[in-house]
Amino acid sequence: MAVKYTKEYKEYISSDNWRAKNRAFKRFVGGKPECFCGAIKKLHVHHLHYKNLGNEKFEDLLYVCTKHHQQIHTLQRRTRVSIVQATKRVQFRYTRNGVLLHKLIVAFFLFGFVTILIVMTEFITYLKGGNPSFS
Ligand SMILES: [Zn+2]
Ligand SMILES: [Zn+2]
Repeated sequence: MAVKYTKEYKEYISSDNWRAKNRAFKRFVGGKPECFCGAIKKLHVHHLHYKNLGNEKFEDLLYVCTKHHQQIHTLQRRTRVSIVQATKRVQFRYTRNGVLLHKLIVAFFLFGFVTILIVMTEFITYLKGGNPSFS
């Protein structure tokens, strides 16, 4: 969608109207805006579509960090899907990666725990004068 680069868009984005909308949106999200990744700095107000440009509803807008904002618009330009779709995909990628990372951490701790358990068992066998497998 080329709307982002039109003269009207640029004028609107630097207008008092938009600034007022921004303030209202900030209040709407409870005064503490954040990206879906949890970032609270370098936030942008992202348009999910430009249908209501100049008369946006709050559900047309989303706070995103600079990084994710770039990712969304790059994906949208590359794949030519709608901005809503691109936003959803970036969000999904982020949460899926988050889930993967969490699983990895859990697996790592479980592995460590099991290793300690085996070593302890061997050590106890050794103390009892048994025949530990590692000797
Ligand atoms: Zn945007
Ligand atoms: Zn983010």
